[in-house]
Amino acid sequence: MIIYIIISIVMAINLVNTSDEKEKAIKKINKYLIVKLIVNFLLSHFMIMILVRVTQRKAWYTMLLPALLSFIFSIIDSVSLYDTVKKIRDLKCGRKEYYFQVIGDNILLYLSWVMASLLHIFGTSEKNDYIFILGYFIFWCIFNFIILHLRKYIMKCKEVSNKKLINVINKHYVEGYKIFEYNGQIRKSANALVDCMFGRGNIYFSDYLLENMTEEEIEAIYLHEIGHIKKKHITIRNILLIMIMPLMYFVGIIMDEIEKVQHINIFLGITLGMGILIGYMVFFYLYVSRRQEYEADQYAVKNINETAVLCRALKKLNELNDILESKNDNVVLKTHPTVIQRIKRIEAYTGGKK
Ligand SMILES: [Zn+2]
Repeated sequence: MIIYIIISIVMAINLVNTSDEKEKAIKKINKYLIVKLIVNFLLSHFMIMILVRVTQRKAWYTMLLPALLSFIFSIIDSVSLYDTVKKIRDLKCGRKEYYFQVIGDNILLYLSWVMASLLHIFGTSEKNDYIFILGYFIFWCIFNFIILHLRKYIMKCKEVSNKKLINVINKHYVEGYKIFEYNGQIRKSANALVDCMFGRGNIYFSDYLLENMTEEEIEAIYLHEIGHIKKKHITIRNILLIMIMPLMYFVGIIMDEIEKVQHINIFLGITLGMGILIGYMVFFYLYVSRRQEYEADQYAVKNINETAVLCRALKKLNELNDILESKNDNVVLKTHPTVIQRIKRIEAYTGGKK
């Protein structure tokens, strides 16, 4: 484990050559982080499996360890990139602020996994399947509620003070939703997102985005987020995530059936289970997530005067986040299509109307 951490740190520090151009360097970093996310996931499971084999002991907390290990690995990856990212993107933030945000991001990312593992540990001792399933759904509701409030704290959200955004909000009111500004300056992050539960929720705008966009562009982005709300995208995504447990449960039943006729090696079993889980996430969940982006874009263009404003806003988002795309960028592992793909769809949808 220590060797892996050392390798990770050395790789992160040496990832970008001094001769690399800014765009190339950022692309390298983003690709590296995605690959590492998967490697961390697989390796942490593998390490714990070996640990259980060697010690011949499986305590209740063993189930929690892969998530915790991945969480630690992921933080180490991001933290070791601090100097590189700061230099390339010319960030003005201090080390402490940056670390706080990186750790916060990872907490939001891994908390669901830790909680799901915890539930699994206590759930498997419950013999009644119906009580377990009911507990599982109650757990998800509580969990969603926690995330909703935790995000506000971690992202240091504050009341909206930006005049342009206030004008936009007054123009398009959405019931049940609160709008917040968060600190995006620290890492020069231009983003907007929406969170919800049972038809109520929050929309978050980074102040870095608000400062650098015109009121019309902010309106286009805001309408895109409303598109997500109106088309119930967050609920659909949550249901897809909730379905992971029943899916794995079902896979377990099938494997038990096969086991009756043919013995399945434990390593093969785990590889198969994990393969199905990764396949579900990559080819189904992420695919749906990308389709939702197109749908939210469509909603936005339907409700703005000028289609070109949305396209301009999307391009600006990339510029502000220092992302340079090429036509053949691979998006299989991403929640969002590329801006080039989105603009193409918007133009096809509106038939070239300005
Ligand atoms: Zn979106």
